[in-house]
Amino acid sequence: MADEFPFEISPMFEGERVRKDDMYVELAGPKSKGFELVSAVDIDEMEDGKFTLIGPDISDMEEGGRYPLAMIYRIAGELVEPDLEAIVERRNHDFQNYIQGVMHLNQRYDVWLRINKDSIAKGLNSFEDIAKATMMLFRNELPFIEKIDATYITDIEKVEDELAKAMERYAARDERTRNLHDEDVDTFYGCSLCQSFAPTSVCVITPDRIALCGAINWFDGRAAAKVDPEGPQFPIEKGELLDEIGGEYSGVNEVAQKLSGDEYNRIKIHSFFEFPHTSCGCFEVVGFYMPEVDGIGWVDRDYTGMAPNGLAFSTMAGQTGGGKQVIGFLGVGINYFRSPKFIQADGGWNRVVWMPKFLKDKVLADIPADIVDKVATEEDAQDLDTLKEFLKEKDHPVVKNWGADEEEEEDEESTGTSTAMPVFGMPDPAMLQNIPPMIGGGGGIKITLKNAKVSIDKIILSSKK
Ligand code: SF4
Repeated sequence: MADEFPFEISPMFEGERVRKDDMYVELAGPKSKGFELVSAVDIDEMEDGKFTLIGPDISDMEEGGRYPLAMIYRIAGELVEPDLEAIVERRNHDFQNYIQGVMHLNQRYDVWLRINKDSIAKGLNSFEDIAKATMMLFRNELPFIEKIDATYITDIEKVEDELAKAMERYAARDERTRNLHDEDVDTFYGCSLCQSFAPTSVCVITPDRIALCGAINWFDGRAAAKVDPEGPQFPIEKGELLDEIGGEYSGVNEVAQKLSGDEYNRIKIHSFFEFPHTSCGCFEVVGFYMPEVDGIGWVDRDYTGMAPNGLAFSTMAGQTGGGKQVIGFLGVGINYFRSPKFIQADGGWNRVVWMPKFLKDKVLADIPADIVDKVATEEDAQDLDTLKEFLKEKDHPVVKNWGADEEEEEDEESTGTSTAMPVFGMPDPAMLQNIPPMIGGGGGIKITLKNAKVSIDKIILSSKK
Protein backbone atom coordinates (compact mmCIF):
# COMPACT_ATOMS: atom_id res chain seq x y z
CA MET A 1 0.00 0.00 0.00
CA ALA A 2 2.78 2.46 0.76
CA ASP A 3 6.35 1.63 -0.21
CA GLU A 4 7.91 4.24 2.03
CA PHE A 5 7.15 2.23 5.17
CA PRO A 6 9.01 -0.89 6.40
CA PHE A 7 5.69 -2.70 6.89
CA GLU A 8 2.51 -3.60 5.04
CA ILE A 9 -0.62 -1.57 5.75
CA SER A 10 -4.01 -3.18 5.25
CA PRO A 11 -7.33 -3.69 7.07
CA MET A 12 -6.60 -7.42 6.83
CA PHE A 13 -4.10 -7.07 9.70
CA GLU A 14 -6.81 -5.72 12.02
CA GLY A 15 -7.39 -8.98 13.89
CA GLU A 16 -3.66 -9.67 14.27
CA ARG A 17 -2.59 -10.36 17.84
CA VAL A 18 0.95 -9.93 19.17
CA ARG A 19 1.42 -12.55 21.87
CA LYS A 20 4.01 -12.19 24.61
CA ASP A 21 6.47 -14.60 22.97
CA ASP A 22 6.37 -12.70 19.64
CA MET A 23 6.54 -9.25 21.23
CA TYR A 24 9.56 -7.00 20.83
CA VAL A 25 8.24 -4.14 22.97
CA GLU A 26 5.07 -3.32 24.87
CA LEU A 27 3.91 0.30 25.05
CA ALA A 28 1.51 1.88 27.58
CA GLY A 29 -0.97 -0.78 28.76
CA PRO A 30 -1.92 -1.93 32.26
CA LYS A 31 1.66 -2.17 33.50
CA SER A 32 2.84 1.19 32.20
CA LYS A 33 1.29 4.57 31.32
CA GLY A 34 -0.01 6.16 28.19
CA PHE A 35 -2.91 7.67 26.30
CA GLU A 36 -4.06 8.89 22.91
CA LEU A 37 -5.56 12.30 22.32
CA VAL A 38 -6.82 14.24 19.32
CA SER A 39 -7.26 18.01 19.46
CA ALA A 40 -8.89 20.28 16.90
CA VAL A 41 -6.76 23.39 16.28
CA ASP A 42 -6.71 26.34 13.94
CA ILE A 43 -5.41 25.48 10.48
CA ASP A 44 -2.73 28.18 10.59
CA GLU A 45 -1.32 26.84 13.87
CA MET A 46 0.24 23.75 12.37
CA GLU A 47 2.54 22.20 9.82
CA ASP A 48 0.89 19.32 8.00
CA GLY A 49 2.51 15.90 8.52
CA LYS A 50 5.01 17.04 11.16
CA PHE A 51 6.14 14.40 13.65
CA THR A 52 7.82 15.07 17.01
CA LEU A 53 9.18 12.46 19.39
CA ILE A 54 9.91 13.23 23.03
CA GLY A 55 11.87 10.42 24.68
CA PRO A 56 13.54 7.23 23.45
CA ASP A 57 12.70 5.81 20.02
CA ILE A 58 12.04 2.14 19.22
CA SER A 59 15.70 1.67 18.28
CA ASP A 60 16.67 2.70 21.83
CA MET A 61 14.33 0.19 23.44
CA GLU A 62 15.34 -3.23 24.74
CA GLU A 63 13.77 -6.40 23.47
CA GLY A 64 11.02 -7.54 25.85
CA GLY A 65 10.86 -4.07 27.45
CA ARG A 66 7.79 -2.16 28.56
CA TYR A 67 7.63 1.60 27.99
CA PRO A 68 5.16 4.47 28.39
CA LEU A 69 3.64 6.01 25.26
CA ALA A 70 1.47 9.06 24.63
CA MET A 71 0.16 9.73 21.11
CA ILE A 72 -1.11 13.25 20.57
CA TYR A 73 -2.53 14.28 17.20
CA ARG A 74 -3.67 17.76 16.20
CA ILE A 75 -6.12 18.08 13.35
CA ALA A 76 -7.42 21.05 11.35
CA GLY A 77 -9.77 21.72 8.46
CA GLU A 78 -12.78 23.76 7.50
CA LEU A 79 -15.18 21.09 8.81
CA VAL A 80 -13.06 20.11 11.82
CA GLU A 81 -14.61 21.06 15.16
CA PRO A 82 -13.97 19.95 18.77
CA ASP A 83 -17.03 17.65 18.62
CA LEU A 84 -15.09 15.48 16.16
CA GLU A 85 -12.05 14.95 18.37
CA ALA A 86 -13.32 11.80 20.09
CA ILE A 87 -14.41 10.20 16.83
CA VAL A 88 -11.07 10.82 15.14
CA GLU A 89 -9.25 9.65 18.27
CA ARG A 90 -11.17 6.35 18.26
CA ARG A 91 -9.94 5.65 14.71
CA ASN A 92 -6.32 5.58 15.93
CA HIS A 93 -7.21 2.08 17.13
CA ASP A 94 -8.29 0.96 13.63
CA PHE A 95 -5.48 2.57 11.72
CA GLN A 96 -2.67 1.34 13.92
CA ASN A 97 -4.11 -2.16 13.69
CA TYR A 98 -3.87 -1.88 9.88
CA ILE A 99 -0.08 -1.83 10.35
CA GLN A 100 1.40 -5.31 10.11
CA GLY A 101 3.08 -6.34 13.36
CA VAL A 102 1.52 -3.58 15.48
CA MET A 103 -1.30 -4.37 17.89
CA HIS A 104 -3.34 -1.53 19.39
CA LEU A 105 -5.90 -2.24 22.11
CA ASN A 106 -8.40 -0.06 23.96
CA GLN A 107 -8.73 3.72 23.94
CA ARG A 108 -8.05 7.00 25.73
CA TYR A 109 -5.94 6.38 28.89
CA ASP A 110 -6.26 2.59 28.49
CA VAL A 111 -4.31 2.24 25.23
CA TRP A 112 -1.99 -0.74 25.02
CA LEU A 113 0.34 -1.44 22.09
CA ARG A 114 2.72 -4.22 21.16
CA ILE A 115 5.16 -4.41 18.27
CA ASN A 116 6.25 -7.86 17.15
CA LYS A 117 9.79 -9.10 16.55
CA ASP A 118 9.26 -9.69 12.81
CA SER A 119 8.51 -6.00 12.25
CA ILE A 120 11.72 -4.99 14.00
CA ALA A 121 13.65 -7.51 11.90
CA LYS A 122 12.12 -5.98 8.74
CA GLY A 123 13.37 -2.52 9.69
CA LEU A 124 10.75 -0.90 11.92
CA ASN A 125 12.97 1.05 14.30
CA SER A 126 11.26 4.40 14.68
CA PHE A 127 7.91 5.69 15.91
CA GLU A 128 8.08 8.12 13.00
CA ASP A 129 7.08 5.32 10.59
CA ILE A 130 4.08 4.38 12.74
CA ALA A 131 2.99 8.00 13.21
CA LYS A 132 3.37 8.88 9.52
CA ALA A 133 1.48 5.78 8.39
CA THR A 134 -1.29 6.55 10.91
CA MET A 135 -1.52 10.19 9.77
CA MET A 136 -1.71 9.05 6.14
CA LEU A 137 -4.64 6.77 7.01
CA PHE A 138 -6.38 9.54 8.97
CA ARG A 139 -6.18 11.84 5.95
CA ASN A 140 -7.22 9.15 3.44
CA GLU A 141 -10.15 7.81 5.43
CA LEU A 142 -11.40 11.03 7.02
CA PRO A 143 -11.26 13.59 4.20
CA PHE A 144 -12.52 16.42 6.43
CA ILE A 145 -9.03 16.41 7.99
CA GLU A 146 -6.99 18.85 5.91
CA LYS A 147 -3.93 19.00 8.15
CA ILE A 148 -2.64 16.69 10.87
CA ASP A 149 0.51 16.50 13.00
CA ALA A 150 1.61 14.05 15.68
CA THR A 151 3.65 14.14 18.87
CA TYR A 152 4.60 10.85 20.48
CA ILE A 153 6.05 10.85 24.00
CA THR A 154 7.95 8.00 25.63
CA ASP A 155 9.57 9.98 28.44
CA ILE A 156 7.70 8.92 31.59
CA GLU A 157 7.68 12.31 33.33
CA LYS A 158 6.38 14.07 30.25
CA VAL A 159 3.78 11.33 29.68
CA GLU A 160 2.52 11.82 33.24
CA ASP A 161 2.32 15.62 32.80
CA GLU A 162 0.43 15.36 29.54
CA LEU A 163 -1.81 12.55 30.85
CA ALA A 164 -3.09 14.84 33.60
CA LYS A 165 -4.05 17.42 30.96
CA ALA A 166 -5.61 14.76 28.73
CA MET A 167 -7.76 13.53 31.65
CA GLU A 168 -9.20 17.02 31.95
CA ARG A 169 -10.04 17.00 28.25
CA TYR A 170 -11.78 13.61 28.48
CA ALA A 171 -13.73 14.75 31.55
CA ALA A 172 -14.84 17.95 29.78
CA ARG A 173 -16.11 15.89 26.82
CA ASP A 174 -18.04 13.54 29.12
CA GLU A 175 -19.48 16.41 31.12
CA ARG A 176 -21.34 17.74 28.08
CA THR A 177 -23.96 14.98 28.16
CA ARG A 178 -24.86 15.52 31.84
CA ASN A 179 -27.85 17.73 31.20
CA LEU A 180 -29.12 15.91 28.16
CA HIS A 181 -31.21 12.75 28.52
CA ASP A 182 -32.65 10.03 26.31
CA GLU A 183 -36.12 11.56 26.43
CA ASP A 184 -34.78 14.93 25.18
CA VAL A 185 -33.75 13.64 21.74
CA ASP A 186 -35.42 11.81 18.85
CA THR A 187 -32.24 10.27 17.52
CA PHE A 188 -29.63 7.99 19.06
CA TYR A 189 -26.40 7.01 17.30
CA GLY A 190 -24.94 3.65 16.43
CA CYS A 191 -21.35 2.64 15.74
CA SER A 192 -20.20 -0.36 13.73
CA LEU A 193 -16.44 -0.05 14.26
CA CYS A 194 -16.20 -3.05 16.57
CA GLN A 195 -18.08 -5.32 14.18
CA SER A 196 -14.72 -6.09 12.60
CA PHE A 197 -13.99 -8.41 15.53
CA ALA A 198 -17.45 -8.77 17.08
CA PRO A 199 -19.73 -9.19 14.05
CA THR A 200 -23.04 -9.35 15.92
CA SER A 201 -22.28 -6.39 18.18
CA VAL A 202 -24.88 -3.62 18.15
CA CYS A 203 -23.48 -0.46 19.69
CA VAL A 204 -26.06 2.13 20.68
CA ILE A 205 -24.99 5.53 22.01
CA THR A 206 -27.60 7.66 23.80
CA PRO A 207 -27.34 10.80 25.95
CA ASP A 208 -27.73 8.58 29.03
CA ARG A 209 -25.45 5.79 27.87
CA ILE A 210 -21.95 6.51 26.58
CA ALA A 211 -20.47 3.88 24.26
CA LEU A 212 -19.06 0.96 26.18
CA CYS A 213 -15.53 1.79 24.99
CA GLY A 214 -16.00 5.06 26.88
CA ALA A 215 -14.66 7.02 23.92
CA ILE A 216 -17.82 8.14 22.10
CA ASN A 217 -20.73 10.03 23.61
CA TRP A 218 -23.98 11.16 22.00
CA PHE A 219 -22.49 14.49 20.83
CA ASP A 220 -19.52 12.70 19.28
CA GLY A 221 -21.85 10.30 17.45
CA ARG A 222 -23.91 13.18 16.14
CA ALA A 223 -20.87 15.12 14.90
CA ALA A 224 -19.39 12.06 13.19
CA ALA A 225 -22.63 11.07 11.46
CA LYS A 226 -22.99 14.62 10.18
CA VAL A 227 -19.51 15.06 8.78
CA ASP A 228 -19.09 11.50 7.44
CA PRO A 229 -22.53 10.06 6.59
CA GLU A 230 -20.95 6.96 5.02
CA GLY A 231 -18.75 6.37 8.08
CA PRO A 232 -19.12 3.89 10.95
CA GLN A 233 -21.29 6.17 13.13
CA PHE A 234 -24.89 6.56 12.03
CA PRO A 235 -28.20 7.93 13.33
CA ILE A 236 -30.85 5.66 14.85
CA GLU A 237 -34.37 7.05 14.94
CA LYS A 238 -35.70 6.13 18.38
CA GLY A 239 -39.18 5.19 17.20
CA GLU A 240 -41.78 4.11 19.74
CA LEU A 241 -40.91 3.87 23.43
CA LEU A 242 -41.67 0.28 24.43
CA ASP A 243 -40.23 0.14 27.94
CA GLU A 244 -39.39 3.39 29.70
CA ILE A 245 -37.44 1.87 32.60
CA GLY A 246 -35.56 -0.72 30.56
CA GLY A 247 -34.93 1.80 27.77
CA GLU A 248 -36.45 -0.16 24.88
CA TYR A 249 -37.31 1.59 21.60
CA SER A 250 -38.75 0.19 18.39
CA GLY A 251 -36.13 2.03 16.28
CA VAL A 252 -33.26 0.52 18.28
CA ASN A 253 -34.78 -2.95 18.00
CA GLU A 254 -35.02 -2.63 14.21
CA VAL A 255 -31.38 -1.58 13.98
CA ALA A 256 -30.37 -4.38 16.37
CA GLN A 257 -32.00 -6.97 14.14
CA LYS A 258 -30.38 -5.59 11.00
CA LEU A 259 -26.93 -4.99 12.46
CA SER A 260 -26.70 -8.31 14.28
CA GLY A 261 -27.78 -10.28 11.21
CA ASP A 262 -31.02 -11.36 12.94
CA GLU A 263 -29.15 -12.56 16.01
CA TYR A 264 -31.01 -10.09 18.27
CA ASN A 265 -34.19 -8.13 17.78
CA ARG A 266 -34.54 -6.49 21.19
CA ILE A 267 -32.21 -4.34 23.24
CA LYS A 268 -33.00 -2.66 26.53
CA ILE A 269 -30.40 0.04 26.91
CA HIS A 270 -30.65 0.33 30.70
CA SER A 271 -31.17 -3.30 31.61
CA PHE A 272 -28.59 -5.73 32.97
CA PHE A 273 -30.63 -8.91 32.77
CA GLU A 274 -33.29 -8.54 30.11
CA PHE A 275 -32.21 -8.08 26.48
CA PRO A 276 -29.06 -6.24 27.59
CA HIS A 277 -26.82 -4.22 25.30
CA THR A 278 -24.28 -6.40 23.50
CA SER A 279 -20.64 -6.31 24.66
CA CYS A 280 -17.98 -6.22 21.95
CA GLY A 281 -14.73 -6.39 23.91
CA CYS A 282 -13.70 -2.71 24.18
CA PHE A 283 -15.68 -2.09 27.36
CA GLU A 284 -13.92 -0.17 30.11
CA VAL A 285 -15.68 -2.08 32.87
CA VAL A 286 -17.42 -5.44 33.05
CA GLY A 287 -20.39 -6.03 35.33
CA PHE A 288 -21.01 -9.50 36.77
CA TYR A 289 -23.98 -10.90 38.61
CA MET A 290 -23.32 -12.83 41.81
CA PRO A 291 -26.35 -15.04 42.53
CA GLU A 292 -24.99 -15.82 46.00
CA VAL A 293 -25.74 -12.24 47.11
CA ASP A 294 -28.20 -11.31 44.34
CA GLY A 295 -25.98 -8.33 43.57
CA ILE A 296 -23.90 -6.97 40.73
CA GLY A 297 -20.17 -6.33 40.90
CA TRP A 298 -18.11 -4.26 38.47
CA VAL A 299 -14.45 -4.64 37.62
CA ASP A 300 -12.32 -2.44 35.38
CA ARG A 301 -9.25 -3.12 33.26
CA ASP A 302 -6.87 -1.63 35.79
CA TYR A 303 -7.83 -4.01 38.57
CA THR A 304 -5.41 -6.92 38.56
CA GLY A 305 -6.78 -8.84 41.54
CA MET A 306 -9.66 -11.29 41.77
CA ALA A 307 -13.24 -10.15 42.17
CA PRO A 308 -15.23 -11.78 45.00
CA ASN A 309 -16.55 -14.41 42.56
CA GLY A 310 -12.97 -15.68 42.22
CA LEU A 311 -12.46 -14.34 38.70
CA ALA A 312 -10.15 -11.73 37.22
CA PHE A 313 -11.19 -8.99 34.76
CA SER A 314 -9.51 -10.85 31.88
CA THR A 315 -11.48 -14.05 32.52
CA MET A 316 -14.80 -12.23 32.73
CA ALA A 317 -13.94 -10.04 29.73
CA GLY A 318 -13.37 -13.20 27.68
CA GLN A 319 -16.78 -14.48 28.78
CA THR A 320 -18.54 -11.17 28.09
CA GLY A 321 -17.01 -9.98 24.79
CA GLY A 322 -17.61 -11.06 21.23
CA GLY A 323 -20.71 -9.01 20.48
CA LYS A 324 -23.22 -11.14 22.35
CA GLN A 325 -26.04 -10.41 24.78
CA VAL A 326 -24.59 -12.32 27.70
CA ILE A 327 -27.07 -12.50 30.53
CA GLY A 328 -25.25 -12.08 33.83
CA PHE A 329 -22.40 -9.99 32.37
CA LEU A 330 -22.37 -6.52 30.83
CA GLY A 331 -19.66 -4.30 29.39
CA VAL A 332 -20.02 -0.55 29.98
CA GLY A 333 -18.06 2.70 29.71
CA ILE A 334 -17.06 4.31 33.02
CA ASN A 335 -19.20 7.34 32.32
CA TYR A 336 -22.33 5.16 32.38
CA PHE A 337 -21.92 5.01 36.18
CA ARG A 338 -22.75 8.73 36.14
CA SER A 339 -25.99 8.22 34.20
CA PRO A 340 -29.25 8.78 36.09
CA LYS A 341 -30.55 5.72 34.19
CA PHE A 342 -27.65 3.45 35.16
CA ILE A 343 -29.07 -0.15 35.01
CA GLN A 344 -32.33 1.31 36.29
CA ALA A 345 -34.34 -1.75 35.22
CA ASP A 346 -32.47 -3.81 37.80
CA GLY A 347 -32.35 -1.49 40.78
CA GLY A 348 -29.59 0.89 39.64
CA TRP A 349 -27.03 1.58 42.35
CA ASN A 350 -29.16 -0.36 44.84
CA ARG A 351 -28.07 -3.52 43.05
CA VAL A 352 -24.35 -2.71 43.07
CA VAL A 353 -22.49 -4.61 45.77
CA TRP A 354 -18.78 -4.51 44.86
CA MET A 355 -16.24 -2.61 42.77
CA PRO A 356 -12.47 -2.03 43.01
CA LYS A 357 -11.58 0.93 45.22
CA PHE A 358 -9.84 2.77 42.41
CA LEU A 359 -12.96 2.57 40.24
CA LYS A 360 -15.26 3.46 43.12
CA ASP A 361 -13.16 6.53 43.91
CA LYS A 362 -13.35 7.62 40.27
CA VAL A 363 -17.15 7.75 40.32
CA LEU A 364 -17.60 8.44 44.04
CA ALA A 365 -19.35 11.78 43.56
CA ASP A 366 -22.04 10.09 41.44
CA ILE A 367 -22.91 7.25 43.81
CA PRO A 368 -26.11 8.09 45.72
CA ALA A 369 -25.31 9.15 49.29
CA ASP A 370 -27.52 6.45 50.85
CA ILE A 371 -25.67 3.61 49.11
CA VAL A 372 -22.09 4.82 48.82
CA ASP A 373 -20.85 3.19 52.06
CA LYS A 374 -22.72 -0.02 51.30
CA VAL A 375 -20.77 -0.80 48.12
CA ALA A 376 -17.82 -2.98 49.10
CA THR A 377 -14.33 -2.76 47.61
CA GLU A 378 -11.42 -5.20 47.76
CA GLU A 379 -10.57 -3.62 51.13
CA ASP A 380 -13.92 -4.77 52.54
CA ALA A 381 -14.52 -8.06 50.78
CA GLN A 382 -12.23 -10.43 48.90
CA ASP A 383 -14.58 -13.38 48.45
CA LEU A 384 -18.26 -14.24 48.62
CA ASP A 385 -18.25 -14.98 52.35
CA THR A 386 -16.67 -11.66 53.34
CA LEU A 387 -18.88 -9.86 50.83
CA LYS A 388 -21.99 -11.41 52.34
CA GLU A 389 -20.87 -10.39 55.82
CA PHE A 390 -20.16 -6.82 54.69
CA LEU A 391 -23.51 -6.42 52.95
CA LYS A 392 -25.35 -7.78 55.97
CA GLU A 393 -23.49 -5.48 58.34
CA LYS A 394 -24.21 -2.45 56.14
CA ASP A 395 -27.82 -3.49 55.53
CA HIS A 396 -27.36 -3.20 51.78
CA PRO A 397 -30.70 -3.16 49.87
CA VAL A 398 -29.95 -6.59 48.29
CA VAL A 399 -30.08 -8.14 51.76
CA LYS A 400 -33.85 -7.72 51.66
CA ASN A 401 -33.86 -10.17 48.78
CA TRP A 402 -32.08 -12.72 50.90
CA GLY A 403 -34.82 -12.25 53.49
CA ALA A 404 -37.38 -12.98 50.80
CA ASP A 405 -35.47 -16.10 49.78
CA GLU A 406 -35.20 -17.28 53.37
CA GLU A 407 -38.93 -16.72 53.92
CA GLU A 408 -39.54 -18.56 50.67
CA GLU A 409 -37.52 -21.51 51.90
CA GLU A 410 -39.39 -21.52 55.20
CA ASP A 411 -42.74 -21.33 53.41
CA GLU A 412 -41.76 -24.17 51.14
CA GLU A 413 -40.73 -26.27 54.09
CA SER A 414 -43.98 -25.68 55.98
CA THR A 415 -46.55 -25.53 53.16
CA GLY A 416 -44.82 -26.67 50.00
CA THR A 417 -45.76 -23.37 48.25
CA SER A 418 -44.19 -19.92 48.04
CA THR A 419 -45.61 -16.42 47.67
CA ALA A 420 -42.55 -14.38 48.70
CA MET A 421 -41.42 -11.88 46.03
CA PRO A 422 -37.91 -10.49 45.69
CA VAL A 423 -37.34 -6.76 46.00
CA PHE A 424 -35.72 -6.42 42.55
CA GLY A 425 -36.45 -8.15 39.29
CA MET A 426 -34.71 -11.51 39.45
CA PRO A 427 -32.74 -12.81 36.49
CA ASP A 428 -34.06 -15.70 34.47
CA PRO A 429 -32.63 -18.98 35.89
CA ALA A 430 -31.43 -19.74 32.36
CA MET A 431 -28.79 -17.08 32.90
CA LEU A 432 -26.99 -19.38 35.29
CA GLN A 433 -25.70 -21.34 32.35
CA ASN A 434 -23.67 -18.29 31.37
CA ILE A 435 -21.92 -17.85 34.68
CA PRO A 436 -18.33 -19.03 34.18
CA PRO A 437 -16.18 -21.06 36.58
CA MET A 438 -17.45 -20.42 40.05
CA ILE A 439 -15.27 -21.52 42.85
CA GLY A 440 -17.07 -22.79 45.88
CA GLY A 441 -16.07 -24.75 48.91
CA GLY A 442 -16.89 -25.95 52.35
CA GLY A 443 -16.29 -28.94 54.55
CA GLY A 444 -12.72 -29.29 53.27
CA ILE A 445 -13.81 -29.85 49.66
CA LYS A 446 -13.22 -27.42 46.82
CA ILE A 447 -15.33 -27.84 43.69
CA THR A 448 -14.39 -26.02 40.49
CA LEU A 449 -16.91 -26.07 37.64
CA LYS A 450 -15.53 -25.18 34.24
CA ASN A 451 -17.77 -24.58 31.20
CA ALA A 452 -20.44 -26.57 32.98
CA LYS A 453 -24.15 -26.37 32.33
CA VAL A 454 -26.16 -27.46 35.33
CA SER A 455 -29.84 -28.22 35.08
CA ILE A 456 -31.96 -29.16 38.08
CA ASP A 457 -35.42 -30.71 37.66
CA LYS A 458 -36.35 -30.82 41.31
CA ILE A 459 -34.93 -29.80 44.69
CA ILE A 460 -36.13 -31.74 47.72
CA LEU A 461 -35.52 -30.13 51.12
CA SER A 462 -35.70 -32.51 54.03
CA SER A 463 -34.60 -32.20 57.65
CA LYS A 464 -31.46 -34.02 58.72
CA LYS A 465 -32.25 -36.97 60.96
S1 SF4 B 1 -17.43 0.23 21.49
FE1 SF4 B 1 -19.04 0.99 20.16
S2 SF4 B 1 -18.67 3.18 19.96
FE2 SF4 B 1 -16.79 2.29 20.74
S3 SF4 B 1 -15.62 1.90 18.87
FE3 SF4 B 1 -16.71 0.00 19.37
S4 SF4 B 1 -18.57 0.06 18.16
FE4 SF4 B 1 -17.72 2.16 18.22
